[in-house]
Amino acid sequence: MTRERLYLYDTTLRDGQQTPGVDFSLEDKRVIAGLLDELGLDYIEGGYPGANPTDSAFFAEAPPLRATFTAFGMTKRPGRSTANDPGLQELLRAGGQAVCFVSKAWDYHVRVALGISNEDNLEAMRASVEAAGAAGKEVLVDCEHFFDGWKGNREYALACARTAHEAGARWVVLCDTNGGTLPHEVEEIVGDASATVPGSHLGIHAHNDIEQAVANSLAAVRAGVRQIQGTLNGIGERCGNANLVSIIPTLLLKPSYRDRFETAIDKDRLATLTHVSRAFDELLNRAPNRQAPYVGESAFTTKAGIHASAIAKAPETYEHVAPETVGNRRRVLVSDQAGKSNLLSELARIGIRLDRDDRRLDALLAEIKEREAQGYAYEAADASFEILARRRLGTVPTYFEVEGFRVMVEHRHNALGELVTVSEAIVKLKVDGESLMSAGEGNGPVNALDTALRKDLGRYSAYIEDLELVDYKVRILNGGTGATTRVLIESRDGDGERWFTVGVSPNIVDASFQALIDSVVYKLLSAGAPASA
Ligand SMILES: [Zn+2]
Repeated sequence: MTRERLYLYDTTLRDGQQTPGVDFSLEDKRVIAGLLDELGLDYIEGGYPGANPTDSAFFAEAPPLRATFTAFGMTKRPGRSTANDPGLQELLRAGGQAVCFVSKAWDYHVRVALGISNEDNLEAMRASVEAAGAAGKEVLVDCEHFFDGWKGNREYALACARTAHEAGARWVVLCDTNGGTLPHEVEEIVGDASATVPGSHLGIHAHNDIEQAVANSLAAVRAGVRQIQGTLNGIGERCGNANLVSIIPTLLLKPSYRDRFETAIDKDRLATLTHVSRAFDELLNRAPNRQAPYVGESAFTTKAGIHASAIAKAPETYEHVAPETVGNRRRVLVSDQAGKSNLLSELARIGIRLDRDDRRLDALLAEIKEREAQGYAYEAADASFEILARRRLGTVPTYFEVEGFRVMVEHRHNALGELVTVSEAIVKLKVDGESLMSAGEGNGPVNALDTALRKDLGRYSAYIEDLELVDYKVRILNGGTGATTRVLIESRDGDGERWFTVGVSPNIVDASFQALIDSVVYKLLSAGAPASA
């Protein structure tokens, strides 16, 4: 039996940006788009070009994606032609292959929020969809408040969907904007809408205000929609959007969806899901939700209680799916085997293949566990993990030794009489048996250390010329100023390769220095630099 194709649409970079406390930089947007593209989403909505400088810049230089890169924006203003609406024209000129228009589908909102007639609202939608189609874009229409609108004025909500479809929109997306609709209502209302617009042209955009966004998305698929919109880890305004990280494995692993539908995500990509979810949390600088379905640290953790012996014999009897399918790991607190399989696959991911019985594996596993207990997070710091693993497996050359460093932070009046804070650092290294000492200044202690460290690395200096620090994140692990600090640094080189390193210490400068050193060592390692004499 041929399976029907379901399309996955990500709006992390647009609707997800509405999350309180979340504000993506241009760099963040590029990294996240890359993550989403690797995962295999069909559509990536990049933002709202014209609405803010970051989104305009993001679309001006559209990232190279396999997915359909989509711009979001408003339909034309009533009373103007599309050619005479600068906002709409900017949207049509923006990079990307598709445009998603937001349009109200609830007559109450049309009257109260827009203050225009129902017919003017439909006309604005029709003209905008046609203009975008004529500009060569694939067009989507988000029918805002569709479900509440249907309850208030069914005829008008359906007229909105019909108008979008007839004007040529590839997708008519039914939005539960307020997030309060129940799954059985979604099923009924989508069923009704699919008599007006074929399900193969319908999408669902659900918010999570009663924790039903995932259930509502699945109900909508059962009732006929073939596109699902959502965000990574369910971020979004108020209680968030439908969580794609829960929806994707459900579609791929649960027989009632797996047997009927296919997506662009294959088994190998599904196995990166846990990594993608946690890497995204690290970018947001927030702790991953341990109890997140499928990908949480606890999702496959069983505490051995009365079932201890059964769990030890056959842990899968307590799992709804196999953790490896989503890249997660089983943790049963009576057995060590799970950690080992996970480590083996992590090593394989960076190109190290070891035998299961290799003794070094046990030693490495023990060290990682010990370090994770101290606060290291290797899930988010691939480069530090690779250095640690290669070192324990005996394949990292020694490039330089750090003999010591000193950092001074001074708060003083400058020549203009202004109060300034300046930092100076001195780093002592040994390269090829020779001691090198460099001083650097910076706007803060880490910046000064970075400058000093890179000033003179002897013959390794040439290798790190194009090394650039892109991001620096600090997390205090157990509260208060006496707490442990974890520093995560993202670096990049001239070829566009990016890597993450981690440092942990009660001292923030020390933690930063560890992460800096790892970043430099990783760069030397991947450049194939020879060992120090
Ligand atoms: Zn939304």
